[in-house]
Parts: sequence; structure tokens; C-alpha cells
Amino acid sequence: MCPTTRFAPAPTGFLHLGHLVNAIYAWGIARATGGQVILRIEDHDRQRSRRAFDAALLDDLERLGLIPDEPSLVELRTGPSAFRQSDDPGPYRAAVDVLRTQGRVYACTCARTALLAWRGSGCPGDCRERALPEDEPGSALRGGLGEGDETFDDLLLGLQFGDPSGDGDLTLRDRHGNWSYPLCVVVDDLRHGVDLVIRGRDLLDATPAQLRLGRLLGRETPPAFLHHALLRKPSGAKLSKADHDTAIRDILDGGATPAELLGFAAAAVGLLGSARPVPAAALGHLFEP
Ligand SMILES: [Zn+2]
Repeated sequence: MCPTTRFAPAPTGFLHLGHLVNAIYAWGIARATGGQVILRIEDHDRQRSRRAFDAALLDDLERLGLIPDEPSLVELRTGPSAFRQSDDPGPYRAAVDVLRTQGRVYACTCARTALLAWRGSGCPGDCRERALPEDEPGSALRGGLGEGDETFDDLLLGLQFGDPSGDGDLTLRDRHGNWSYPLCVVVDDLRHGVDLVIRGRDLLDATPAQLRLGRLLGRETPPAFLHHALLRKPSGAKLSKADHDTAIRDILDGGATPAELLGFAAAAVGLLGSARPVPAAALGHLFEP
């Protein structure tokens, strides 16, 4: 089947153990199936992304032996690259143009708190009807994705379905002028030829809208999805970039080998019965039938 999957971190902090679990799935499944791994720098949020974190994540992956099939680390280090979102806004602008010709795009000035509580299509202020200019100060761009559920067969979780418009119309560009995460990820997966999306279960609910957006942008065959378990702290809380104790570079600097770290992370999510060293080159064995 030779899938093309991707590892797509945001350079808003150092890579942590949660990223490592995702990388183990991406590289392991690609190696077990003769597929390939694309590395994409998801720095669409210009306020939160940092070039220092971008450089650090490339160093950390190289240190771990997690080398992407495309692009080369040299390309990402020297830039510009089609695999770094901030290097070329063209594809995102073009995608919004497509949606605009379909009559789906409108400016929205609703407050974030009102949007978070909103259920159903549209937005709390009915901004679509107000037909504000797209350059209205402080406005976001939103896109209506239409009605009806999307269904998909998650490779781990089985049949899933959901309403793409269930939490309101999709943000395409935020009020700060950043292209949104769902817009960028759908556009990039399409143009980069990604046909297997491997990510954590925290993004399961985002999938119906992303499937629909892909269809509206002309993607005929959606990617396959695999949503894996997240690594959690003993308290049950999700790991976050604010937790410096889980930064991969700190653990390696503390004396752990890359193979020990990969084996520890694999065991922590049940891919190994107990922790033992697993070099990056052997990750495929974790996923062989
Ligand atoms: Zn609104």
C-alpha cells in the first residue's frame, strides 16, 4: 500500500514526549509498509511560532535518527521550502479563492468566547448576513462547509461520523491574519500527496470538517486516518509544551540514548510490553503484523 504520511509539528516549543509518540507511529508505520514520511513545519500561527524552535526540532529529529523522506533537513534549514507553511502563503490564498467562488467565505467579527460556546452552522453574530468587507479591522474569515455528516473509517477506532459544521463555520483566517490550522493542514495534505494522516485522538473531532474542506477543494479521494492514543501524565493530563521536563532535548542531554527514549515512549502507549531500547531504524518492527 506504500502510504505517504507526515510528521507536522508546530514550532511553538521544543519537541516533547507527546510528539515522540506521534513520530513513532508515523515513521514506524511508514517503514513497516514501504511508505514514506513527509516532515512539515506547521508555523501558520506567526505570533506563536519561533525560528529557534523550528531549528531545534530539526536538530532533535536528526539526533533521534528520525529523518524524513521528504524534504531534506538541509532544505528546511536553508529554506524557503514548500514544506514550511510560512514560506509561501500562495496555496492557502488560492484555496480560499476557490471557496469564495463557491460563495462560502465571509468576514466575522464575533468574539472568541462567543464562538467557543456556539453550536451549529454559521456564527453567533450571523456575520454572513451582515456581509462585512473582508478587510474589516479585527475580523476573521470563515467558511461555511454545508450540511450533512461526514463518515470515515479510522484505522484504529473504526467507523466514525460527525457534522463538519457542528461547532460553527470553519475559521479560514484568524483575526490576526494567520491562515488557520484546518485550512493549512487540508491544503498541505492535498498538495503534498499525504494519503495517511496519523495523529493523536485530540484531533478526532476535527476530522469531519477537514474531510469536507478537502472535498470542497477538489480532493476526490480523502486520506485514510489513524488517531492514536495520547501520552498522558500520571495525573491523566495531556502533555504540553510548557512542561520543560518532558522536552526531548533535555532528556537526551540528561544521558538517555535515542533508542532508550524511543523505547520508553513506545512502551508508554502500549506499543511495547515493557520499555527496551528501540533504534529509529527498527521502529517498523513495532507495526509489522
Ligand atoms: Zn461572526
